Amino acid sequence: MSKPVIPYGHQSIDEADIDAVVAVLRSDWLTQGPLVPAFENAVADRCRASHAVAANSGTSALHLACLALDVGPGDVVWTSPITFVASANCAIYCGAAVDFVDIDPLTWCMSVSALAGKLAAARAGGGQLPKVVIPVHFAGQPCDMAAIAELAAAYGFRVIEDASHALGAKYLDVTVGAGAHSDITVLSFHPVKIITTGEGGMTLTNDAALARRMARLRSHGISRDPADLSRPSDGPWYYEQLELGFNYRMTDIQAALGSSQLARLDEFLARRTEIARRYDAALADLPLRRQQVPEYASSARHLYVVRVPAAKRDRVFAGLRAAGIGVNVHYIPVHLQPYYRGRGFEEGQFPEAESYYREAISLPIFAALDPAAQERVIQACRASLSAACAEPAPLNR
Ligand SMILES: *Cc1c(COP(=O)(O)O)cnc(C)c1O
Repeated sequence: MSKPVIPYGHQSIDEADIDAVVAVLRSDWLTQGPLVPAFENAVADRCRASHAVAANSGTSALHLACLALDVGPGDVVWTSPITFVASANCAIYCGAAVDFVDIDPLTWCMSVSALAGKLAAARAGGGQLPKVVIPVHFAGQPCDMAAIAELAAAYGFRVIEDASHALGAKYLDVTVGAGAHSDITVLSFHPVKIITTGEGGMTLTNDAALARRMARLRSHGISRDPADLSRPSDGPWYYEQLELGFNYRMTDIQAALGSSQLARLDEFLARRTEIARRYDAALADLPLRRQQVPEYASSARHLYVVRVPAAKRDRVFAGLRAAGIGVNVHYIPVHLQPYYRGRGFEEGQFPEAESYYREAISLPIFAALDPAAQERVIQACRASLSAACAEPAPLNR
């Protein structure tokens, strides 16, 4: 009998989570009702943000954030090439263009020096400066936000933190989402993320006007607030559509699950940290490179990525998969996706991201990964790395 495959990420659902969802099914509300603002308040409190707007996915939340910052045709938004495609797509949904800033070779987050260089070059050469920059807290590790905020002030762009990986992470001892160095922070509650609502996302901000705008755009651009209306109300049923919005609402079913999961956030973070430390120690003697954690960062440990020599990566990956370890690669550089190549990007533009991609393997890390399963991963890593290192390098590399 072969052992079950260990996935790279997995939700952790307990009886309290199930009870919370069942209770909603027995209630009067299914779509956005009282549990959505309750979940928004709980996340805002936890992340020390003044306002939270829930959405039906992290991708929708990114789109709402771009819209609220008036990203539109003629604008350009910069993000990291090592991210999920949604971090870039959100700008294109708004009719804007996208460009990328290469990653730092050690932290694998957006390189602040590459950002500074690209900004200076754009200003000096009469090129276009970004309207918004979207740093991605890759693998759960916050970017150097104070440095990015300084550049934002100097060059006049706005900042959206893509914190899809980073709920509960800290930057300079302050929780991600508190917003000291950005305009809006975006979270995802996809099942592989730190907590889940099935599908879901949220924007956090300290700007009341941005929060109101995102809440309105989440529901078709409709308002009932007398202060917003163009003319006196026709009656209690009256609302006005003031701009073109979407149906990006979260359901009460999702919010109930989210609130229940949020109560377990510290437990999830502690487990992820413990698993990462165990990998750090057990793999220390192998020819691997790991994400450098700068002193300003405390990671939520969404992903545990190791970099192996490019010539060995595919064999190590295959060896792990053959051993029943559901390893993965995060991420294919976004600019190399056919859609983005079609918009003019090509190989060689972001060399650090491309070399990262040739070497990366994501090992399993999630709250429910038990020590015995982690031990299987560690043994399989050792075995497949030594097998790959014993073989001669293939000629085509
Ligand atoms: C998961 C993820 C998203 C999108 O979140 P969804 O909730 O799946 O729409 C955006 N950015 C990053 C970096 C992600 O990992």
